[in-house]
This record gives sequence, structure tokens and C-alpha cells, in this order.
Amino acid sequence: MKTKFSYIFRLVCSKCGNVHDPATLQTYCFSCNAPLVADYDLEVVKNILKRDDVAARPSGMWRWHELLPINKPEFVITLGEGDTPLLPLPRLGKHLGMTGIMVKDESINPTGSFKARGLAAAISKAGELGVQRVIVPTAGNAGGAMAAYAARAGMQALVVMPADTPRANVLECRITGAMVELVDGLISDAAALVKERVKTEGWFDVSTFKEPYRLEGKKVMGFEICQQFNWDVPDVILYPTGGGTGLVGIHKAILELQELGWLKTKKMPRIVAVQSTGCAPVVRAFDTGQETCTFYEGARTLASGLRVPRSFADRMILQTIRKTNGTAVAVTDEEILTAQRLWAEKEGMFVAPEGAATLAGLIQLHDTGWIQAQDKVVLLNTATGLKYLDIL
Ligand SMILES: *Cc1c(COP(=O)(O)O)cnc(C)c1O
Repeated sequence: MKTKFSYIFRLVCSKCGNVHDPATLQTYCFSCNAPLVADYDLEVVKNILKRDDVAARPSGMWRWHELLPINKPEFVITLGEGDTPLLPLPRLGKHLGMTGIMVKDESINPTGSFKARGLAAAISKAGELGVQRVIVPTAGNAGGAMAAYAARAGMQALVVMPADTPRANVLECRITGAMVELVDGLISDAAALVKERVKTEGWFDVSTFKEPYRLEGKKVMGFEICQQFNWDVPDVILYPTGGGTGLVGIHKAILELQELGWLKTKKMPRIVAVQSTGCAPVVRAFDTGQETCTFYEGARTLASGLRVPRSFADRMILQTIRKTNGTAVAVTDEEILTAQRLWAEKEGMFVAPEGAATLAGLIQLHDTGWIQAQDKVVLLNTATGLKYLDIL
């Protein structure tokens, strides 16, 4: 049987369930104002592919191409993203009285953050469908990643970000030739400007969850974590949550692997959203039993990736946390800085403030007993601390 490069077969609205065609350029469900989610023909993948075949391929995100949306290999734009290490944290664990803590260290991705994964997928797919100009509002790292992949694809790029975004993010966009617009305000203000420019100038918008494929790139973290656990899963995953792409994506990945029968267990990790006390829309909605978030006024935190007052996928984030018996916690900037220093002193890793937030969240949840000393816990370090020199 001739095999295909991708087994994507439809897109489904996350709210109403209506089906959309992945062979044409898609954004989101206009009637629900909700994200579209990619569906793969997993029954066929089960027959043509074994988990050991994927494991034996050259490293990187595209090992998983049957479960990614690009149909023709020549459209894959890669800078070597994916296959980041899962490292035990023994000295940190000893200090905290925990034996099973680990980090999925995303800082080694191209552009220094895990945004590379999502934008690799989104830019590749957009290119396959003929897009030549891309635009994004960003809290920082998504802009840098979009600019990098757009340059490699030969696309024009426009990045809109708050004026107080870390300098590294502005410079990494400009050096690729991307146009950069700085706005006084937050990512939500940048998003308003993007909407305007899309309408008047016809750019393709790759905002978080406003197109379906950044989610697909980010879900590969979930595939990798399971493979690194020898096709098992951890007990708890702590995720620094802004737009929530990786949180929703890791859960999606584990469900897909379960359906393929590649996992030893039916167990689902408890997934935790970690936010900042200065911007905690998901925590507030979770604590008050809401299905969606309300806009978080006056959002303020030095963890710039967490400065997202309301995610377009708020409903999906809350569903994911609840379905997995997870929770949502907020940590202060002070706790973030303390955790960042502790992590560096104990393990030699200079993590991003967003990554440090997951350690601060772990400390909180261990104190309350929600996480036990022996639990197998994965922290996500989503970027390198080196991108934040001017704000630390
Ligand atoms: C974007 C970003 C986040 C938040 O990721 P989402 O998937 O949008 O929730 C966390 N950390 C860093 C470093 C980021 O750039």
C-alpha cells in the first residue's frame, strides 16, 4: 500500500463540531468564534506505522509527519526544532524533598523557545496552501519564531508586539527582515491592530488558535514526553499558560497515542496551568467554576509569555485541566525570580521566567499536598533565560 506523508483528514470546530476542509486555507469557526482542531485517520495510521518506526527516524519534530498536517514533504520548513531533552532534576528534587521531578527543556529549540514548534507547523502548512505574507500579534517569542520560519520560507512577515517586550524578541524579528510594529499596551492591543491590518492589507494571521496548526506543532511535545517515558506517562505536567497551545496540544497528543494503542497505560497525567498572579484569567475561571475566562484587566508580569489577558482557546484550556483532574495555580513575580535562581544554582539551567513559574507552581502544590513526594512530575521550561536579560 502506498503510504501518505500526512493522515490529516478534517478539521473540527472545538465548540459546535462542524467539519472544515484542511485542503484549503482555514482560520477558525466564525459562527462559534472558536478554534478548529485537526483530526487524523488514526485507524489507517495504526496499520501502516509502528511506534518503533517513528522512534528509529532521524531526530526532530518531523519524525511524526503522519500525525502532522503537511501533505507534501517539500513544504516542510524546518530549523531543527523538536526532540528536546527530558532531564531529571535530582539536586533540585533533593532540596525540595521530591524524587521524581524532571524538565522538558524547550530552550534548545531554534529561536530559543518552544514557539519554534508551533510556527514550524503553521508556516509550513500556510506555505503549502500558497500563503506569502504572514502576520502575528505576540507577547514576544511567537513573533521571533514566526519571523525566523517566514524568512526561511521566503515569506513576508509583520510582527506586532507590546513596546515593553524583551529586546531580544524585537531584535530577532528585525534581523530576519520582518517588519515590526510596537504598540503601547498588551498582546490584546497588538491583536486589535493585527485584525485591522488583515482586513485592509490581506495578511494571513497566525495568532494563537486563530489558525489550526500551531497546535499541531506544539502537540509533538506530548508525543516526545510519552516516548521519553518509554511509552508511559508522568503523573503531573506543569505548563506555563498564556494562550494554552502546548497545554491543549500535549493532552491531544496523549489522546492520539492512546487511540493508536502505542501507550502502555490508559492513565492521563494531571495537567496543571501555571500563571502569574499579575495575569491569571485561567486560574480565576477554574476557581470559580466558569467554562470560559473573562478578560484580565491590568495584566502585569515579567514572564512576558504569560501576559495574555484572555486566550482564544479559554474553553479548551479549562476543559483540558478539568478532564485530566488537573488544576490551575498562580505564582508571584517574586516567586518566579526565586525559582529561577534556585533552578540555576541547583541544576545549572538558566530558564525563562515562564519556565521558572512551573517550578514555583510545583513548590506551591507540593506544600499543599496536591503533588506528592514520589510523583513523576514534568516541568516545561519553554525558553532560555538568555532572551530576557533586559527585564531581569
Ligand atoms: C508563549 C509562551 C508561553 C505560553 O505558551 P502558550 O502555549 O501560549 O500557553 C510560555 N512560555 C514562553 C517562553 C512563551 O514564549
